Amino acid sequence: MTFAVSIGLVGLVFQRKRKRKKDSQDSNSNSYTGDGPASVNDDWSNHLPSHIRREQAKEKRRQKKMPLLAMKGVMYDNITMLCPKGTELSKISAKKAKWYVDKGLASYYDSDKHENNEDGTNGNKKHTCIKLHFEPKKRWEKSCYGKADKENVCVSCGSQEHPMRFYIVPYAYRTLFPREYKSHMSHDVVLLCGRCHLKCGQVAQERMRIIEESFNPQGRYQHDERLYKVRSAALALLNWRHKIPEAKIVQLEKVIKDFVEDMGWLEEESIASESIYTEPILQKCIDVEYRTESSDYIPGAQLVVESLQTEEDFSIFIRQWRQSFMDSLHPRYLPQGWDINHPVRSD
Ligand SMILES: [Zn+2]
Repeated sequence: MTFAVSIGLVGLVFQRKRKRKKDSQDSNSNSYTGDGPASVNDDWSNHLPSHIRREQAKEKRRQKKMPLLAMKGVMYDNITMLCPKGTELSKISAKKAKWYVDKGLASYYDSDKHENNEDGTNGNKKHTCIKLHFEPKKRWEKSCYGKADKENVCVSCGSQEHPMRFYIVPYAYRTLFPREYKSHMSHDVVLLCGRCHLKCGQVAQERMRIIEESFNPQGRYQHDERLYKVRSAALALLNWRHKIPEAKIVQLEKVIKDFVEDMGWLEEESIASESIYTEPILQKCIDVEYRTESSDYIPGAQLVVESLQTEEDFSIFIRQWRQSFMDSLHPRYLPQGWDINHPVRSD
């Protein structure tokens, strides 16, 4: 098939889909004539197809959750850390700076006063700088990423709305990494707004699913087929009986009846056979434990991280996640020095 023919077919399918969508929109709104809401109080959304209304409801729930999930403070305090000779080493958080000062390893050294503030005060101003009392063995933040001021905005779109930490290598993997691949590796934790976080999180989840599937993981649970069918039948009869065709109801009731008889529940509950499809009996069927956890189950994240043996393995794995992050968001506000090839291991 030529490229042009295949494009033509795609167009045709798309047009048909649009027509189906329109038909379903018309059938979902009995009085809808296509001229807008019937009255001023009538909501446009009532005339939308059910799958779009479901998406809208989902989106509303997400919007509600965002303020709760957002960071309460800022992610970057951008406190400058100097070596005793005054050379800049890196930017650190206010919490880390306070830790150095509290341990007697550094003093606050704010550029506007050029003096040590041993008492930890600097008037009403926030501290911006500390100076170490010792010469560090290694300049552990050689890269310009470590020294760069980092803005508290979404690295993708620049928004300051609902800021959230985003783990470029998913947290489920990162938390299983050896210490040297996660400690002092703030490079792979960035700030995203709620919207970009959601978008990138979905891409990452799908990628995790594909990676973990390639390890052929054993299912976490073993299902008992019969108990599973009993539970499904009871759920359907309890919640959807009014929507199920009569012939199907007969089938489902037989599944329940056979099971209830085998379990000897009829005598136990002293219920006449014609009334076994009551809520208490159906609920009892729903509550049956239809699955057991496999004793040799290994979570997918563990299989993935255990497969990383050498530094090169980690390097490839982490850099692929960075690339995936770039591809899914095309971020425009990354801190200076952020780089896919940034070292993956701290010394
Ligand atoms: Zn954003």
